[in-house]
Amino acid sequence: MSSAAQPIEIDRQTMEVDIACAGFGPATGGFLTTLTQAWSQNPTDPAFESRVAPGMPLQVLCYERADDLAAGVSGVVTRAEGIRSSFPTLDPAEIPMAAAVKQERVFYLLDPVGASRRSALLRIGDFFLGLGKKFCLRDNAFELPWTPAFLHKNGGLVLSIGQFNQWVGSQLMASGLVQIWPGSPVAGPLFSDTKVEGLRLCDQGVDRHGAPAEGFMAGMDVQAQLTVVADGQKLDWRFGLPTGHARREWALGMKFVIELPEDTQLEAGTVWHTFGFPEPEIFGFLYVHPDRLVSVGIFMPSWLGDPQRTVYRYLQHYIQHPLLWQHLKNGTLRSWGAKSLEESGKHGEPFLTGDGFARIGEGSGSTNMLTGSGVDEAWTTGVQLGEAVIELLRGGKPFTQENLAATYEKRRRASWVERGAREAKNARTGFHLGFVRGLAGMALAGLTGGWLSLKTHIPPAPKQIRLLDNYLAGGLTLKQAIAVSLDDGRPLHDALMTAAGWPEISLDGRLLVTHQDALLMGGKVQAIPGFADHVVFLDKGRCIACQEKTCIAMCSGQAITLGADSAPAFEREKCVHCGACLWNCPHSPDGERSSIEFRAGAGGLHSAEN
Ligand SMILES: Cc1cc2nc3c(=O)[nH]c(=O)nc-3n(C[C@H](O)[C@H](O)[C@H](O)COP(=O)(O)OP(=O)(O)OC[C@H]3O[C@@H](n4cnc5c(N)ncnc54)[C@H](O)[C@@H]3O)c2cc1C
Ligand code: SF4
Ligand code: SF4
Repeated sequence: MSSAAQPIEIDRQTMEVDIACAGFGPATGGFLTTLTQAWSQNPTDPAFESRVAPGMPLQVLCYERADDLAAGVSGVVTRAEGIRSSFPTLDPAEIPMAAAVKQERVFYLLDPVGASRRSALLRIGDFFLGLGKKFCLRDNAFELPWTPAFLHKNGGLVLSIGQFNQWVGSQLMASGLVQIWPGSPVAGPLFSDTKVEGLRLCDQGVDRHGAPAEGFMAGMDVQAQLTVVADGQKLDWRFGLPTGHARREWALGMKFVIELPEDTQLEAGTVWHTFGFPEPEIFGFLYVHPDRLVSVGIFMPSWLGDPQRTVYRYLQHYIQHPLLWQHLKNGTLRSWGAKSLEESGKHGEPFLTGDGFARIGEGSGSTNMLTGSGVDEAWTTGVQLGEAVIELLRGGKPFTQENLAATYEKRRRASWVERGAREAKNARTGFHLGFVRGLAGMALAGLTGGWLSLKTHIPPAPKQIRLLDNYLAGGLTLKQAIAVSLDDGRPLHDALMTAAGWPEISLDGRLLVTHQDALLMGGKVQAIPGFADHVVFLDKGRCIACQEKTCIAMCSGQAITLGADSAPAFEREKCVHCGACLWNCPHSPDGERSSIEFRAGAGGLHSAEN
């Protein structure tokens, strides 16, 4: 008997298909592109006849949570090896906002503000760099004399993920061979013992707790021979992870898309990687698109212990660093976005295949945190699954775990994605011992192809957050922060940053705008009515007692605020679906998971430029 993700037991519409995909990102794009390219080259190949509806073509459907295929958030600079092998004659000019990589530079940013938390060792390093100011420092930045080979994106592309996904999606739709349904969140897989038999779509016409309300429409059950999963939280809950694996490393990537002033000197295809500011652990990027557009962003890692973690404000400080500000200051904010990255790589790799299902993309552990690259890896895992599925279809073989392992997993294990993942496995673990050791570990892993690195125990994400008491003991007093907070009624985490010495942001209404105003920029946050809340607090008592309230500090959209009863309150209308609340709670019910459950949901930020 099938059991599914949502509790409401009711007669549901069902549909039978051959292949159902959950989520449309680069991974599913690679999968569907591979399938449709082979199919359109051999339209009469009986392999592409449906098993569930004999005489009909293969039934392939993809359900995407967001309202638009262009609603993703990413950098992106990519070597694009996998993407180019799918499109050998690709001309970047075909994809809006795409440019060939022309120039790549890496900068260590010093702190011109004096507020970032730098260890004594780092301060000594900064002091010596300062002594050689005339020779090696410019605009408070030290440029690495070379770009390490593992970071290089030679021959690669600068992309907007929204535009790229839209470009891929429109070709797939035009092929007429597969269907992609945006605005269709998948509630979870349909299980039958250890087998996945398809997926269930979310109920609509429900109240915020998921109970049927006016216009109730039970989410359809889509029975599938093969379910392709790009996310997969519910699979992990059901099957667990392979022995020794855990998902403990995350980062929130937040970016602005800025229109540069007319006299800009920045050329399309320029790629800058930075580290050192606004906090040493925060890596940043600047990628220039054609038409005077630039993507600028930062990554807030889970190993940054501070409970404040106010990413939007940090990003505003980041763009004002002298190295960047000289180019950005007369620009205009066009849009922004945020998304969590699953950074555990091999440490968090789930079961890639099972009876009736296969996992691809970031959720399958493909993102390479040594090279800072996820798009091409995700795409390539999709391609590998596409090739495997074609092989099984042609061989008349069912989608069992054994067959998927012998085709998809085999290809993946033998590929550059796997080699890269192995090299990257321990590249960043040193950061759990501190910034300097983290950098040393990354350099070691990068320069030795992963043979050497700094290995250490990685604590669960909740344990990576320093408790407020420890944080305040580091020099601040709660009194100071509360005084700032009470002064103008701002949230405590914002006040903590001010009390720590970060200057107030001088808003200019054009590039430096309030977080609330940003929510309306570049396409707005939307929440289609009739869906349940996807952010659910599991234990109100625990939340009331919680001092840190990291979920509020970390919320990208100010969708989690402090309610009147001292418990956090969630507003779906402001949620950008970044997923940060999933890993930003120090008080875990089981030591691993957050006190928040992040369920499937519709809506989010709608910007086609991210
Ligand atoms: C700010 C930022 C900068 C980055 N910079 C770079 C870079 O420079 N280079 C690089 O290579 N990578 C970069 N990355 C990482 C890269 O974006 C990801 O690795 C890549 O997008 C992963 O692709 P994917 O297809 O696996 O997953 P995703 O792109 O996350 O796609 C998954 C899709 O599934 C959908 N989905 C999820 N759950 C459900 C559900 N329940 N029902 C239906 N749909 C669902 C999501 O809405 C999404 O569209 C960056 C990421 C961020 C956030
Ligand atoms: S969800 Fe976690 S961080 Fe947020 S208030 Fe509750 S216990 Fe605190
Ligand atoms: S509530 Fe929404 S915007 Fe806020 S952290 Fe969670 S997913 Fe992100």
